[in-house]
Amino acid sequence: MKKIKKKDVVIVISGKDKGKKGEVIKVLPDEDKIIVSRVNIVKKHTRPTQTDPGGIKEIEKPIHISKVKLICPKCNQPTRVGFKFLPDGNKVRYCKKCKEMIM
Ligand SMILES: [Zn+2]
Repeated sequence: MKKIKKKDVVIVISGKDKGKKGEVIKVLPDEDKIIVSRVNIVKKHTRPTQTDPGGIKEIEKPIHISKVKLICPKCNQPTRVGFKFLPDGNKVRYCKKCKEMIM
């Protein structure tokens, strides 16, 4: 189970986008990387196609999971994520600051 999931809101803690917040669009589990909305933007020139006029596009490049912290949806703080087991055996994430479960 991963610490960061799609649709989580994270804050960047290192690199050129330090301090930026965004929603996780995609998780790349094999590389321990994520794609975060409006973070690590690169400009890409694209050729026009039948469905697309082309031009300069801004796309998000993946960043390493270690460069972000989850923003806890309960206490709204950047936090570390812990794991615990529920009585039914399911593993859940929790916020190490406020101890609330994060679904
Ligand atoms: Zn919290």
